[in-house]
Amino acid sequence: MLGRHPWVFSGAIDSVGSELEPGDIADVVASDGRFLARGMVNTRSQIVLRLLTWDEAELVDAAFWENRLRRAASLRPPSDAARMVHAESDGLPGLVADRYHDHWVLQVSAAGIERHKTDIVRAIARSFSPRGIYERSDVDGRDKEGLPKRAGLIEGEEPPELFTVQERTHDARSVALLVDVRNGHKTGTYLDQAESRRAVAARANGADVLNLFSYTGGFALHAAHAGAKSVINVDSSAEALALSERAAAENQLSSRISHERANVFDLIRTYRDEGRTFDIVVCDPPKFASGAAQVDKAARAYKDLSRLAFGLVRPGGYLATFSCSGLVTADLFQKIVWSASAEARRDAQIVGRFAQSPDHPVLLAFPEGEYLKGLLVRVL
Ligand code: SAH
Repeated sequence: MLGRHPWVFSGAIDSVGSELEPGDIADVVASDGRFLARGMVNTRSQIVLRLLTWDEAELVDAAFWENRLRRAASLRPPSDAARMVHAESDGLPGLVADRYHDHWVLQVSAAGIERHKTDIVRAIARSFSPRGIYERSDVDGRDKEGLPKRAGLIEGEEPPELFTVQERTHDARSVALLVDVRNGHKTGTYLDQAESRRAVAARANGADVLNLFSYTGGFALHAAHAGAKSVINVDSSAEALALSERAAAENQLSSRISHERANVFDLIRTYRDEGRTFDIVVCDPPKFASGAAQVDKAARAYKDLSRLAFGLVRPGGYLATFSCSGLVTADLFQKIVWSASAEARRDAQIVGRFAQSPDHPVLLAFPEGEYLKGLLVRVL
């Protein structure tokens, strides 16, 4: 508790008041009765408590939620879209809130937040006057908290069918991304990769780019905007590729962006057999490890992918390779990429490191909040 980590597991607690219901606010006290912290209880979860404050005088009332939300929002510079609340890392365990223009989209993954949702929604409405507040709490993990999945409008206006979000480019201009908050991944798009897209694009002038696991084409739009000669987006999702095609057209970049609907693992073997090569390969797969038991298998999948991707990079070219599995640490990931390079018989040097964009901060006391890592590697 002294480390101010926001999670308390059942083993760390002697007893929980029998009257406490999931989501109730409760104090944690030492055996001598001393106040330690205050948080949200859920005896149905392995995480019995999600702590909100270590200050006995700080009550969890309407003003509390408003203060936390305003504190979080003050980190985010104005933009079309941003993660406004990054859960534990913003002192609001179990709450993600993304903003697209004047609409907020919430993702609730803890019983305590669910219980106080009305207060939180009121605080958002009062502090930020959004047009609408929508919910995408259809995430895995809700069941561990005893919560059903839910998605839909909470308050105000329905979000438009598609948002057009201008994302800042490496040269301080912008590209338009299309975001479907009802059906898209996460709350509609991968805001966490905005910074990486700019960093990759900075090397993309004149390049042939292969964008593996492209989703709606964020990396491709940035690379083509930066002058890439050609970009191939590869994804298994027809919906994602359809949005990517529309976005390429809206940005007048269609002539240099093409699309392949395929399983990446198969397609890169085909490309290898055909001897195709690229100046830049971006490899941004979905999360492979969601539990400790899956880390080994995930590590093998990351290595296979990176090995095959290395084989497609021309000498002097770049591989931008990512992992969004929190359980695969940056250290481990670097080792994986190293062994992939060795198996591919390539010498390569790290010329850049990627992390989630700054609107996804990491609380020092909660290193688990740092989930996205990547390496920009130059093949010699
Ligand atoms: N780079 C993207 C985000 C990628 S998310 C961005 O910047 O927005 C991961 C993507 O991988 C999803 O779009 C998903 O549809 C796709 N995907 C998952 N498994 C796949 C597979 N085996 N082959 C191809 N695409 C896959």
